[in-house]
This record gives sequence, C-alpha cells and structure tokens, in this order.
Amino acid sequence: MQSSVHVYKGDEIARYGFGDPHPFGTDRHDVFHRELAAAGLDDGIHYAHPRRASVDELSLFHTADYIDRVSRMSKDGKGFLDDGDTPAVKGIFDAASDVVGSVLSAADKIMHRDIRRAFVPIAGLHHAARDRAGGFCVFNDCGVAAEYLREKHGLRRIAYVDIDAHHGDGMFYSFEDDPDLIFADIHEDGRHLYPGTGAESETGTGRARGTKLNIPMAPGAGDSEFREAWRRVEEYVRSAGPEFILFQCGADSLEGDPITHLCYTEAAHAEAATSLCRIADEHCEGRIIGVGGGGYNRRNVARAWTRVVQSFVAAG
Ligand SMILES: [Zn+2]
Repeated sequence: MQSSVHVYKGDEIARYGFGDPHPFGTDRHDVFHRELAAAGLDDGIHYAHPRRASVDELSLFHTADYIDRVSRMSKDGKGFLDDGDTPAVKGIFDAASDVVGSVLSAADKIMHRDIRRAFVPIAGLHHAARDRAGGFCVFNDCGVAAEYLREKHGLRRIAYVDIDAHHGDGMFYSFEDDPDLIFADIHEDGRHLYPGTGAESETGTGRARGTKLNIPMAPGAGDSEFREAWRRVEEYVRSAGPEFILFQCGADSLEGDPITHLCYTEAAHAEAATSLCRIADEHCEGRIIGVGGGGYNRRNVARAWTRVVQSFVAAG
C-alpha cells in the first residue's frame, strides 16, 4: 500500500463546466492544481488519471431514461438539463461520466488497498437526483460511488459528509429511507439559499427515520459556528461506524463566494478533513475520498481544496 494521496488531474474532468459567464466554469480544475503544485506536497501526493464511468456504472444510481436524455441533449448542446441552472452543453455527457469514473477509480484503488485516501476535484456533484439534473450537477458521482461500493465491493455502511454551502439534496433524498447511508450535511439555511431544503427536522424517512443529520447555518456564519456544528457531525459519524467515507468539501462555504452567504475560512475545511481521517482510521482502515464540490470564488476553491489534500497527507 502506498501512503501517498492520489489526486485526480486531467483534461477529461477539467472540461466539466458550462463556460463563461456561468459560475461553474471549466477553469476551476487548473486553478486548484496550480495552487496544489505550489504547496510543496510532491512527496505526499500522486497524480492519478481520470477514467470514464460506463453506462452500466451510471445505472447503479441513475435511471436509464435520464442517462439517455443526457446523452441525447449532450449531442445537440442546446437547452437545459433542469429548470435553467444546468445547460446541456455539447460533450457534457462524456465530461460528467469522466467525473464519476474518477471517483469510482479512486474507490477501486482504495478497496484494493493500493492507497487509503484520494481527492477528486470537480466531483461532488451533489444536486443531481436519480432521474434529473440540478444546480450545475449532471451525474451524482457520490451517489454512484455509494451504490458501486455496495455492489462491487460488498460494503454497506457508507458515510457521506458534506460541508458545501448548499444542501446535498441529490444525496439526501436518494437515500432518505436508507439507514445504512450515513448522512451529515452542514449548509446554509435553505430559507436563504438554493435548493431550499435540509431543515434540521429532516432526519430520514421510513426505516431511516431519525438517522440522518442536517445542520442549517445562518447566513454569515463563520469558523466558530462551523466548529460547533462540526462537533455534532464528528460524534454522529463516529457513532454510526462507517465502512467508507465520502467527503464533499465544497469551497462555496468560504467568505467571499459570489453566490452564497457563509463566511468560513479554509481552516474549516482543513479541520474537517483531519477529523474525518481520524474517524476513517478508527473505523474503516483509513478509507476516505474527498470530492471538490461547489465554489465559485476561484481563490477560495484553490485554497480550500489544497488544504483538504494537505490534511489528508498530514494524516498519513
Ligand atoms: Zn454549493
């Protein structure tokens, strides 16, 4: 087993985006990788190459009708995949499949014990539902990865932890009644921000009622409010006993993001990453994948994601 953290890099995932002036541009990948290269972590990281998810793999989470629809619209490159946030740009099917495939590649390496930790920028497309796009997200890489880890690697209890400013509705509602999908999400209160969901009272349904953790934050919340909320996440994830951790570390919860109103610094992302590595070491042989998620202030994206990778490296 290598102690290095595998960080995914390549044009295949860089081109997932919607061009100017859409906030989810295709420059986010390079902005991050420039900052990471300057951080002097070369001994601790290895650059890994994206791979494409197959339609069969996408089908573990998404419906066949929806996959067909994205494929068709991606050829024409016209219109929207949702109500107006996510344009059907040409080639988006392949780019979105490459993002998913990279997370599955990381999952395979970790499950084969080649490595323990990986980071995939651009992934963490948490608004996509099983049958539709949403909020700049075409395919839900974490949703596919959770199903893949179960189907291909025989795991059951997957933890999904999300500190993006937006509620991870595509993950929450897709697994709302599944008690084995351990879900914790700190996000800006849905009364002030898209997608409007994720109230504290949303704790799961059916057999999963009372098993999920949503923590809405008031606009303007900073690091001290985050730390307070994080203590609850830490306790919850630890007591849930995960077999694998997926960490969506969206950088749009940092101060200065153009489309949200939270005010953390990148220290929040670093501390959360360190804490999750500790829990992963205690419960699941260190297995964790970080996915970049949102973030529309380029400087924040570069810094927050780099701090997450640094924390993974430092955790050993
Ligand atoms: Zn977001």
